[in-house]
Amino acid sequence: MIIEVLVELGNRNMNKTFDYLVPTSLESKIKIGIRVQVPFGKQQLEGFVLNIKKATSLEVELKEIITILDEEVILNEELLKLGKYIMNATLCTLISAYQVMLPKALKAKHKVSIQKKWESYITLSTTYDPYCKRNANQTQIISLLKTVGRMNKKELETISSSSVKTLLKHKVIIENKEEVYRRKNQTEILTKYPLTSLQKQIVEKVLEKRGKDQVFLLHGVTGSGKTEVYMELVEKTLKEGKESIVLVPEISLTEQIVARFQKRFSDDIAILHSRLSDGEKYDEWRKIARGEVKIVIGARSAIFAPLKNIGLLIIDEEHTTSYKQESTPKYHAIDIAKWRSNYHKCPLILGSATPTLESYARAKKGIYYLLEMKERVHQKALPEVEIVDMNQAMKTCKGHFSHLLTNKIQESLEKKEQVILLLNRRGYSSFVSCQQCGYVEKCPKCDITLTYHKSSGMLRCHYCGYATNQREFCPECSEKSMTNLGLGTEKIEEEIKQLFTTAKVIRMDFDTTSKKGAHEKIITSFQKQEYDILLGTQMIAKGLDFANVTLVGVINADTSLNIPDFRSSEYTYQLLSQVAGRSGRGEKKGNVIIQTFNQDHYAIQYAKNHDYEGFYQKEMSIRRELGYPPYYYLTTIKILSKNYDDAKNHSGKVFHYLEKNLTSTIILGPSIASVFKINNVYRFQIILKYKQEEKLTMILNNIIEHYKANSKVKIDIVFDPVHI
Ligand code: ADP
Ligand code: ZN
Repeated sequence: MIIEVLVELGNRNMNKTFDYLVPTSLESKIKIGIRVQVPFGKQQLEGFVLNIKKATSLEVELKEIITILDEEVILNEELLKLGKYIMNATLCTLISAYQVMLPKALKAKHKVSIQKKWESYITLSTTYDPYCKRNANQTQIISLLKTVGRMNKKELETISSSSVKTLLKHKVIIENKEEVYRRKNQTEILTKYPLTSLQKQIVEKVLEKRGKDQVFLLHGVTGSGKTEVYMELVEKTLKEGKESIVLVPEISLTEQIVARFQKRFSDDIAILHSRLSDGEKYDEWRKIARGEVKIVIGARSAIFAPLKNIGLLIIDEEHTTSYKQESTPKYHAIDIAKWRSNYHKCPLILGSATPTLESYARAKKGIYYLLEMKERVHQKALPEVEIVDMNQAMKTCKGHFSHLLTNKIQESLEKKEQVILLLNRRGYSSFVSCQQCGYVEKCPKCDITLTYHKSSGMLRCHYCGYATNQREFCPECSEKSMTNLGLGTEKIEEEIKQLFTTAKVIRMDFDTTSKKGAHEKIITSFQKQEYDILLGTQMIAKGLDFANVTLVGVINADTSLNIPDFRSSEYTYQLLSQVAGRSGRGEKKGNVIIQTFNQDHYAIQYAKNHDYEGFYQKEMSIRRELGYPPYYYLTTIKILSKNYDDAKNHSGKVFHYLEKNLTSTIILGPSIASVFKINNVYRFQIILKYKQEEKLTMILNNIIEHYKANSKVKIDIVFDPVHI
């Protein structure tokens, strides 16, 4: 028997497999889609079996595989095909497309050793002598086992570990090792609401398209009851014996939604997200592959869950940029979901209060079926939003709190209601600069301003991790005038403590959530009202549902308006609407205060009025004028090199090649990328804008091929980038 094996070989060999012989003793265990270990030159590599055949066309003598790594298939027929789609759609290698679909434990990598977890269980031997004399503990153990049949060894040992030992030695009881899953299910039960008539209608509309690959856009304001609709549809799908995948933005940010699903579908659900350990992920993946669960909820990569009979796909908060993977292969989870919806002939629901312009435009054109929920459940009012002009306010207030915001917080505290405060840090951070000459501390390896972290007193680069002490003297002008500028959550926390001396504040940001379980802890304690004020960055804007929160304050709405990206207004609108949506979700009415230096900006005005449609029309007219998505497709090509001249010269060459070969594409650049240098690598960028360009994939593939063997210059292509 001969097999074709795909191994990982760095950049080379797009999709070439290698032939190997299978020793007769292993033949019966070979299946397409399992991993094998093979000799490769002087190394031993792991690879996937992609084909089984009788003969080879090669002249050379074939080597034998070393061993088989899996009993069960890892890449089933669907995933094998999906990998080819990803390769063609993102121009990556086939092996990297397969690797990205799998948890670490199942990738074809060497030296990763993540084991199944085993636990010992004890049963009574059928041959022991019941009349033999035993002590009290031994008797208790035996009688327990008689009633329950089988028990975890660790539990039994709490009675007496020496007795367990003795009984084992005398073969009265028997020990068996069994495979167990690391993550335990929730046991709490969630009460189900009777759906409103609008929710029922929406469920019906989706069910009408069962068995078809229809894409729906569920546009529902915050608190309109989208999650209840998802759960109802998942339950209906489950009753038909079919499976569902529900994607949520990084799970730690949407803890509460996951908990709701878990409580409603406890034993039927698997969870896949980045905060699970590798062992836990491995377990969850096997549960799914073995057909032991019918629902998968998770972040981006859960879209690859190896379910075999999918009846429903849901992507919540579909506008979230983290659904696009930023490293190779640069796939978008929505594209993968569309492919699988087509493969399984099942509906796909994209849900959001603030859909991307691209999605909403498709829905308006009828490519997606538009479902709208314009009001909150039971006509609860959307919160009232007030804007504070900080140009005026700054003249009279100290620090970053306007009088209006200060008063509103005070009122809420007096009423024992809770407050959420957002510090918009997108494209902004607390940095150190010289008050004399304006010198700014930057990372020596990346073209990025260093961020000051008060807790450690260090300056850090958020790209490469470089860290250094803060200095007093400016290296440019030698004055002793280096000062912290900009806003950090720590700084705001200090101001809050000074302004509201009795209030209990909890902070949620990158620093306070780095430990496993930290998110959950913060959210739970805020939920239990152990704190009055939750202060956080973007990560508090999404998905949270606290009934006692009646005030949301945005300290600074502007920073996201200033990022150098054509989507900056869209991001700002999304962020403000999402965070405003955290207010007034319970019985009491909600208020929102937005502080800004740009009070007339349309993104802020439309967010104030909860007017998505208005924002959409306005932003579309700008996009049309400037030729941006959704009117044009975008693709970025980055030319990277440690040598500045190489990066510059080759970006010119790539530009000319594109200019010569593309006929209906606007080619912008080459220019320096928005971050010019990362980890000592210089970055140039070319942007392509087009409506239709037949030859594009071929031309870009040629460029990739051309640079494949070049060790000095690297090419990085992203179709439909979410950040420019
Ligand atoms: P969304 O996902 O659109 O933000 P949710 O599904 O979280 O909305 O619903 C908002 C709030 O309304 C939640 O607290 C939820 O429990 C409640 N809710 C949703 N549907 C109903 C219903 N049919 N009856 C009563 N309460 C509901
Ligand atoms: Zn750096």
